[in-house]
Amino acid sequence: MRLRFYPYTLELAHAFGVASNTRTTTPAMMVELEQDGITGYGEAAMPPYLGESQESAAKFLGLFDANAITDPFQLEEILPQIDALASGNTAAKAALDIALHDWIGKRLGAPWHRLWGLDPARAPVTSFTIGIDTPEIVRRKTVEAAPYKILKVKLGRDRDTDRQLIATIREVTDKPITVDANQGWRDRDEALRMSEWLAGRNVVFIEQPMPKEQVDDTAWLRTRSPLPLIADESVQRLTDVPKACGVFDGINIKLMKCTGLREAHKMITLARALNLKVMLGCMTETSCAISAAAQLSPLVDWADLDGALLIKNDLFTGATIVDGHITLPDRPGIGAVKR
Ligand code: MG
Repeated sequence: MRLRFYPYTLELAHAFGVASNTRTTTPAMMVELEQDGITGYGEAAMPPYLGESQESAAKFLGLFDANAITDPFQLEEILPQIDALASGNTAAKAALDIALHDWIGKRLGAPWHRLWGLDPARAPVTSFTIGIDTPEIVRRKTVEAAPYKILKVKLGRDRDTDRQLIATIREVTDKPITVDANQGWRDRDEALRMSEWLAGRNVVFIEQPMPKEQVDDTAWLRTRSPLPLIADESVQRLTDVPKACGVFDGINIKLMKCTGLREAHKMITLARALNLKVMLGCMTETSCAISAAAQLSPLVDWADLDGALLIKNDLFTGATIVDGHITLPDRPGIGAVKR
């Protein structure tokens, strides 16, 4: 196969605030794998706090010898070899995984949801994310989010900011909210009081309430919390899934942290076997990586695949959101085409 890659900077429609920082761009690396006149597209989206960069992705991709691939269908051979090239680099690895899947699907003339035996009509609604911001901007974003049936709200800076953010949204709408504390709550008693307060305000679950190191505190919270707890930062890859048992009620799977579609599919299967709920999430990404993740969405309980809606310069068209639901295009591979 022939590998091509180039850096691309995603421009965010609104400055995006989470518990630890606020930013206006996300660095990405776009990947193309070509053979027999077919091009598979992939993408690494790399919010800086995750430790990857365009430089590290270029270095990692430089280690990959695409010419050595004679049969791209042999993913169970190829992907472990890619994983073993270097530790970390999960987004760069995901870019190659996505491009290989796209190539295979195009070669077979079928979208991945069909190859996996999934009904696209079962794709869930997606939440629309509202970052930490001033009440005025939160109110405006909530109004803009009218087409979406669930809102995802970033919390975790401090108690008063958190409660004000929820109260501001509740001035505008009663629709269900999922909250993501991004490890921001350190005191378990305070976290329990927040869960009880949120439970009375039509909140569906809490994502990563406490720092990933506070496993015992999170398990303590889970037995008392009226709301389910979903692991994000605590669960990155397949081997982390069993660690969620007894600590969380479910896991948030993202292609950029688990190295791509192949491992994400295995994580969903394992999570189901362990009776864990599954959420499918994303970074700010173009419709390339979002459409890839969307192929798995009929398998999950909740989706948060709004990443392409949050950027101004999407390079692709692909999965769309119709009436709040993820809508999978009937196109082969990951279903994304370059604009
Ligand atoms: Mg999260």
